[in-house]
Order: sequence, then C-alpha cells, then structure tokens
Amino acid sequence: MEDLKLTSLKSAGGRRTVITVDDARIGGDFVVIAGPCSVENEEQTIKTAHKVKEAGAHMLRGGAFKPRTSPYDFQGLGLQGLKILEKAKRETGLPVVTEVTDPRDVSWVCEYADVLQIGARNMQNFSLLKEVGKVDKPVLLKRGVYSTLKEWLNCAEYVLAEGNPKVILCERGIRTFETYTRNTLDLSIVPSVKEVSHLPIIVDPSHGTGRLSLIESMSLAAIVAGADGIMIEVHYNPCEALCDKDQAMPPDMFAGLMKKLNVLRSIMNEINQCKENETSEQRR
Ligand code: PEP
Ligand code: MN
Repeated sequence: MEDLKLTSLKSAGGRRTVITVDDARIGGDFVVIAGPCSVENEEQTIKTAHKVKEAGAHMLRGGAFKPRTSPYDFQGLGLQGLKILEKAKRETGLPVVTEVTDPRDVSWVCEYADVLQIGARNMQNFSLLKEVGKVDKPVLLKRGVYSTLKEWLNCAEYVLAEGNPKVILCERGIRTFETYTRNTLDLSIVPSVKEVSHLPIIVDPSHGTGRLSLIESMSLAAIVAGADGIMIEVHYNPCEALCDKDQAMPPDMFAGLMKKLNVLRSIMNEINQCKENETSEQRR
C-alpha cells in the first residue's frame, strides 16, 4: 500500500477523514442511509422517505439511473427520478445519495444529489472517477465485485488526485463460489481499511446478502466490525418493488433494526473507550 499517496493512513499523518453532509458526520458518528433501490414513482419514494426518517435514518438513498444486469429490466427514471428525490428531501430534510453512471451526467446530477454514488459495476470506470473528482460533492465509492482492497483504494486515489478529498468507501459484497447469498459480504475489509486508510467505510448488507432475512444480523455485525455506517434498501411495500425485491426491507423491520443498532452504538462507544485506554497504556 506504499504507493497510495493520498488515501493511505500514513499520508494523512494518522488522522481519519470525517465527511459532513448536512447534520451527518460520516467517519465521526455511525450513519444510516436508507431508501428504495430505485426511485419508481413519487408516492413510493416520498412514503418510504418519511418512514425511514421517522425510524431515525440520517440520509435517503434511491437510484434514478439503474445499472441493471439485463437491458430489459427497469433502468430508472433519470431526471424525473432526481426531481422526486429533491421533493423527498424538501419534505423530510434527509440529504440524498444517488448513483451517477455516466461522466457526462456528473455536473447536472450534482444539482440534485448531496452524495454521488459510484456503483460496484463502475468502480474502475476511470473517466467517471476523474469527473466526480472535479466536483465539490462527497463520493460514495462501492467496491467492485472482483476487487481487492488495493484496487479499490486506487480507485479512491483517482478521485482524490483530481482534487476531491471526500470519498466514502462502501463494502457491498464480492463474488465468491457461494450461491446461497447474492454476494459474500466481506466484513473483514472494514478493519482492513481502517488499518491502511484514513477514509471512512460503510457497509451495504442489502446487496451484500441479497436476502432480507440476513440483513439485520449483517448490519449489527457491521457496526461491531467498526464500520462508519450502513446503507439499507427499504421499500414501503416490498412486494411491489421494481428492483431488488428479495432484499427490500419493510419500514417496520427497519425501525426495529434502528432500535437494535442504537443499543450496539452505545456498547461500541464503551468498547472504543477500552481500546483507547489500552493504546495509551501501551504508549506509557
Ligand atoms: C445500488 O446501491 O443501488 C446498487 C446498484 O448497488 P451496487 O452498485 O453495489 O450493485
Ligand atoms: Mn439495489
């Protein structure tokens, strides 16, 4: 990791990056991003946004440009979707995280997004990375399904090298021989990132497992692993979801998860205090 000039922990003199988006401090507090896989219509997005806000989410997610495996699947609403997200933000106050897939769209998508998401399939789209490196918006960089930590950090390096220091890494599962889960959520990457980089890292257990029944336990595991937050797909009526139906979490289940996360959050504060005490004793 020696050649990582901007993303290594060493390059930042050991100081960790905290990225502020309205009231959320990614890398400072544990941040929860929730919302539908894709913006399908106004009712679906606004209702879901109110539900996740009530449960305590800090940011709203929703795709207006959907990179789908099949060209015949729902591709997202584009500009219309971004306008719906803008309205959801106006009503709930939640900042918006949304994906950008084409370098030509970056500047105008910035008018609607608080955080620009680069999807797993585009992790190594270098022209897209350079473009988001030129704007003043945080970038949520998802890990590619076949990517090593070093390849991933090199992609973050592209964004930083263009002048944008605000990169949030997001582990969303990698491709392994396992087929029971949609992907294999690599939680060991969380403390690994913390060892080598100053950038914050969040976990997406929705795409990481692809199974509703597994998302809660993996969310709780993510906070224990030291993640700076999670991103969860929530739909006010999962049976009707146009995209990623099997992993769409209903709002009442999300509210239950938020309660459990709050319990763990205070336990983790105590654990982190113990770790700090150990470190200062070792220094003495
Ligand atoms: C998403 O979060 O909407 C998404 C498409 O995820 P990924 O790029 O991780 O597949
Ligand atoms: Mn999805």
